[in-house]
Amino acid sequence: MNDKRKFKRVLVANRGEIAIRIFRACKELGIRSVAIYSEEDKNTLFRTKADESYQIGKGKSPVDAYLAIDEIIELAKAKGVDAIHPGYGFLSENVEFAKACEEEGLVFIGPDYHMMDNLGDKVKSKIVANSVGVPTIPGITETVPSEEVALQFADECGYPVMLKAAAGGGGRGMRIVRSKEEMVEQYRSAKSEAKKAFGIDDIFIEKYLERPKHIEVQILGDSYGNIVHLYERDCSIQRRHQKVIEFTPALCLTEEQRQNICNDALKIAKAVNYRSAGTVEFLVDHEGNHYFIEMNPRIQVEHTVTEMTTGIDIVQSQILIAEGYELNSPELDIKSQDDIQPRGFAIQCRLTTEDPINGFAPDTGVITKYTSAGGYGIRLDAGNAFVNSTISPYYDSLLVKVTSWARSFHDAISKAKRALKEMKINGVKTNRAFLLNVLNHPTFQAGNCDTGFIADNPELMN
Ligand code: ADP
Repeated sequence: MNDKRKFKRVLVANRGEIAIRIFRACKELGIRSVAIYSEEDKNTLFRTKADESYQIGKGKSPVDAYLAIDEIIELAKAKGVDAIHPGYGFLSENVEFAKACEEEGLVFIGPDYHMMDNLGDKVKSKIVANSVGVPTIPGITETVPSEEVALQFADECGYPVMLKAAAGGGGRGMRIVRSKEEMVEQYRSAKSEAKKAFGIDDIFIEKYLERPKHIEVQILGDSYGNIVHLYERDCSIQRRHQKVIEFTPALCLTEEQRQNICNDALKIAKAVNYRSAGTVEFLVDHEGNHYFIEMNPRIQVEHTVTEMTTGIDIVQSQILIAEGYELNSPELDIKSQDDIQPRGFAIQCRLTTEDPINGFAPDTGVITKYTSAGGYGIRLDAGNAFVNSTISPYYDSLLVKVTSWARSFHDAISKAKRALKEMKINGVKTNRAFLLNVLNHPTFQAGNCDTGFIADNPELMN
């Protein structure tokens, strides 16, 4: 297989668990993997999992090292790299980076940069959704120029409303406004948070839905206009708009709702002739209406659950698509939509080095004991989880993704609980007990949590 490969070397412009996930896919495909790492990541595990690794970002901050576009591209060229996988976060949604890769003759493993430009911005993608008749949350589909315009919209559509950064991600630059009196202050703070986080302070406004469910659809498209969906994930279990536990299939949907949401996701992907892996996100209200919120043009943290139920390796698929293979080629072997028949139930728990008792403050230190889980139906994707590993304050606190699979939701929960109990981690605090509390909760077990679930149940933190 190696000889036939179009890519000989792939550089991963990322770190931690997702870098390891991509190195593994490269290895399985017979491609040499190249890691980059910051000064602070010198002693982390991920770089040893690649075939080659190089330090970058000398003199830069720990995060800026992974954002050093020119340096990364220069290194890739110097090392004979064919393609760059950006993972999630960092440069994964950076249009300039994708464009620079293409201009320098490197393949960006993701969508075309024009497409990213159209979809990366939440306002532009809402316009795309509306153009193909996919419902969006009532709001103004352009950036809001002033507090007055925001106040006028809220007066017309009624409070609460939500202010959101057009360039938003990671739950930042988002503010709920419940009354007229709060608007000016929230408008200013949303704008300044957006500016700080994304460098752009464009804000838009939409109706705030009370306790919706977050349902998203995984998409795969090749370079020849063939696009399929890999069904949905329920990502409603969130803390401060950030996902904590994700599962598939979504138990709260009827078969008809599931088909409608998946078809609407396909409509949006087809409207932009989407290439590579992407996710179309929706909110579902308590009446069962769904509304498009955004499309993420990259691999997502929670892709594991979809891999478990569909049997499709999404990261390998991204690489093969970037190499130019068609979905129905022997390499990808996805002949049609009907070919994708999910089986069973999968749940992903994000085990983090956060302290639930202390407001989920990230903990740091050295791991003094680490006992891993294993066994049938359990998949672990870990970044820096081993004895003597230093958990630094510089990066996100995801330690291990624990994904379980079983033929019933009940059994998938039992396996996830069993695996979490097997995991013993000393030296840093983790959210393990909190995850177990969620898995034991009757609302979770009924597959019926909405995005307000964690905030509504403070006892989960004990
Ligand atoms: P980000 O890109 O920062 O992750 P999203 O637009 O994907 O932001 O939204 C993240 C989460 O914020 C959603 O899953 C949902 O819980 C909440 N949210 C976003 N928009 C609304 C809205 N209009 N009403 C209620 N909740 C919302």
